[in-house]
Amino acid sequence: MDFALDEHHQAWVKEVREFLRAEFDVEAEEESRRRGGEASGPVLRKFRAKMAKRGWLALTWPVGYGGSGRTTFEQFLLMDEFAYWGAPAIDLTASAVAPTIMRFGTDAQKKRWLPAILSGEVECAIGYSEPDAGSDLASLRTSARRDGDVWVVNGEKLWNTGAEFATHEWLVVRTDPDAPKHKGLSVVMVPIDAPGVTVQPIVTWGGIRTNAVHFEDVRVDADALIGAENDGWRYVTTALDFERVSIGVTGGLRRLYDETLRTITSYEVDVRHGLAELSVKIENARLLNYRAAWMVDQGLMPNAEASMTKVVTTELQASLSAAVLELVDPTSFAAELARHLYRQAPYLRFGGGTNEIQRDIIAQRGLGLPRGASR
Ligand SMILES: Cc1cc2nc3c(=O)[nH]c(=O)nc-3n(C[C@H](O)[C@H](O)[C@H](O)COP(=O)(O)OP(=O)(O)OC[C@H]3O[C@@H](n4cnc5c(N)ncnc54)[C@H](O)[C@@H]3O)c2cc1C
Repeated sequence: MDFALDEHHQAWVKEVREFLRAEFDVEAEEESRRRGGEASGPVLRKFRAKMAKRGWLALTWPVGYGGSGRTTFEQFLLMDEFAYWGAPAIDLTASAVAPTIMRFGTDAQKKRWLPAILSGEVECAIGYSEPDAGSDLASLRTSARRDGDVWVVNGEKLWNTGAEFATHEWLVVRTDPDAPKHKGLSVVMVPIDAPGVTVQPIVTWGGIRTNAVHFEDVRVDADALIGAENDGWRYVTTALDFERVSIGVTGGLRRLYDETLRTITSYEVDVRHGLAELSVKIENARLLNYRAAWMVDQGLMPNAEASMTKVVTTELQASLSAAVLELVDPTSFAAELARHLYRQAPYLRFGGGTNEIQRDIIAQRGLGLPRGASR
């Protein structure tokens, strides 16, 4: 089997690289690093607008929805190239929320949300985790109660990254408190500026900001509930699978490797062996990503496969950056990059579901193994 990129894909990577060369300068790279790869600062807001203008936020959306109709594999190639240069990825509103609305939303909801996401007018923070519901997400307690024509939302979400600049919360809530815990959940779109919503910053290590978001008697219209009432678990797990495909990109690791080779001056045997082993691991991670993206293009939903890419890439990020710091001059650019990737690695191992939970998914859904005896 030949895993090399064909001419069409090579031309696409070249186009993406030329765009980055023209639009993503040192100032943008520094802002991206400071903000943990989120397009939240003034320089990157402009960069994001240029991506939107090219249709690159909605790369894989069907043309009928105003997208570019490109494959998930092409989207992966773009995200990987972006990651190589430290540019912010296509955000989760376009890459996870929108495809989930396309699958499960009503026609009216598709008309309401998709064009607004496409134009950048709607941007979501992802409201899943709570103080007592992270890995065991289905234990969540934030609720939405029907009151005539509206839903009334109450509760607290934790780690809502990007809520400080988002327009809406893509919020999972309990709508049936009497149903089994996975069955009574729904997803609602809540405007961040609705009365009763409060956003409170939480700064994590490495200086990256996320938020706690409180909801007190927040009233949203009935149609803000996406798809069917109490079917929300399916929507959240689908959106999470889309999210995990995009967490595992390897571009940042390849750049670090290339910069390391440029920096190293002494090639003793153990250094050469170490570098060879790291290059095998990076290639392995890249091919796992190819498979997950290819599966989406075949109409399959990578589940265990998306979890595999996430585990392999995020753990490699920590071990690769630690290894590089042993090898290179601490004042070099490679060392600066390694320190940045090292600090970023722990939250990547948590974000989108922890790697322990991903291993559970691989064991149960990928390998068909039984659930652990203790659970
Ligand atoms: C920087 C950052 C940004 C985030 N952004 C968002 C966001 O935008 N939106 C959002 O909704 N969430 C977000 N999260 C939350 C993230 O998804 C959760 O932190 C994660 O799901 C883990 O939940 P928890 O923090 O409650 O940890 P817990 O679930 O309490 O887990 C604690 C530890 O126990 C382990 N553990 C738990 N259960 C098991 C088990 N069954 N088997 C083995 N080990 C287990 C976990 O792996 C972990 O190591 C973010 C988190 C961080 C750190």
